[in-house]
Amino acid sequence: MKAAAQSELYRLLPSVDEILRFEDVAKRIGADGRSAVTAAARDVLTNLRAEIANGSLDEQRLRFAIDGIGDAIERQLRKELTPSLRPVINAAGVILHTNLGRAPLSRAALEHSREVSVGYSNLEFDLEAGERGKRDIHVNRLFSRLLSSVDREVSTVVVNNNAAAVMLALNSLAEGGEVIVSRGELVEIGGSFRIPDVMSKSQASLCEVGTTNRTRIVDYEKAINERTRLLLRVHRSNFQIVGFTESPSLEELVALGKARGIPVMEDLGSGALFDLREVGIAQEPTIADSLRAGVDIVTYSGDKLLGGPQAGMLSGRKDLVAKIRSNPMFRALRVDKLIYGALEATLLSYVREDYDAIPALRFMRTPLEAIRKRADALARELTKQSSRLAVTVTEARTAIGGGSAPGATIPTFVLAVTFDGFSAHQLADALRRAETPIIVRVEDERVMLDLRTVFPEQDAQLLAALVNLAQQ
Ligand SMILES: *Cc1c(COP(=O)(O)O)cnc(C)c1O
Repeated sequence: MKAAAQSELYRLLPSVDEILRFEDVAKRIGADGRSAVTAAARDVLTNLRAEIANGSLDEQRLRFAIDGIGDAIERQLRKELTPSLRPVINAAGVILHTNLGRAPLSRAALEHSREVSVGYSNLEFDLEAGERGKRDIHVNRLFSRLLSSVDREVSTVVVNNNAAAVMLALNSLAEGGEVIVSRGELVEIGGSFRIPDVMSKSQASLCEVGTTNRTRIVDYEKAINERTRLLLRVHRSNFQIVGFTESPSLEELVALGKARGIPVMEDLGSGALFDLREVGIAQEPTIADSLRAGVDIVTYSGDKLLGGPQAGMLSGRKDLVAKIRSNPMFRALRVDKLIYGALEATLLSYVREDYDAIPALRFMRTPLEAIRKRADALARELTKQSSRLAVTVTEARTAIGGGSAPGATIPTFVLAVTFDGFSAHQLADALRRAETPIIVRVEDERVMLDLRTVFPEQDAQLLAALVNLAQQ
């Protein structure tokens, strides 16, 4: 039989309408809707036409492909209708992993968020007075309480993230004027958050003082002029300056600000409510430390060390916070009831000192021995189930991440895995493509799985994914 010419092959293709009447395709319409199924049918037909055009389908193969159109549509629908945002298992050993959504939310946070958002809530309604209220009050009272070791009244407002908080503070307090910052603090924090750029967008001018490694209080003093509106300190979130260095203490900066009547602001970045000294990390100041030192306004993230939802807080002097709140920009940067719900519940866990309710804090506080036990159990099971896997349990360190100092790490145990016939990178790729993707780090040609950031209930999934790979 003479092979059909290319033009004849096109004629064998069914029309979209015909495809929609195929029994298996018609069934999908009920589940996924006519428009999604029609779009999938068009995509499958487009692919078949392209394959005819490039000569990769002869008549026999085409007939085979047409028989399989129902399945192809099903696959296309699954691809289109599966959310692209998915849960992953973080075995990479960074607690606040910026690429993996930073702080996982507590159950209480999610539950409260759900409760106040599936229906109506009193977000901006004063139930006592029966009139319009302010959304800030729900968390302001809790922040005041948590920061009660500060010997003056502290107000707090919440915006979309810390970048927004910094921008809003600079614009509210220094628009048209100058802000003095040390050259050693003109930082870039991931993505596109660069202090000089944020400053210029906020309509304040940057007045740089000192040098990269050394800035003295007299440098600030000499730079003050009638246009100075703010003295700014920026936490060196993602780097350290070591060696021949000097910078004035917060107390010196505060004393200078007081003497000259200029407010002092600190961008803490991470901003801990929980004292990290409890887990052996000394270099992270808490929000209260900073306010107690006399800083007028601090800004910090909700989803870094605080362990809550993405948000940016501005806490400090009542009159300054009121000024910030009255900036029209505040309205553009404010957050939704979902975030207030999650934040309020997270803060209530702090008020109860129930730190283990907050996953990021629980991971920091998990005793080393508990991690070793889980690692040993997994290693035993993996070795038993596959001879192609070589697993050892070794000591390593988990990074706190999320803009805490690079040196902020705590001890952990990792599973160091090699897999016969696979390079470490191939194994890491395969784990990333698992049904629930597993994110790991590769070191010394081994895949390292840090259990400190893995929820214990995910251990079984880890085991299954590795065993599954080994059996393929
Ligand atoms: C992380 C960080 C920011 C940005 O905070 P987001 O919540 O990511 O917007 C700003 N400043 C510092 C010092 C930071 O560490």
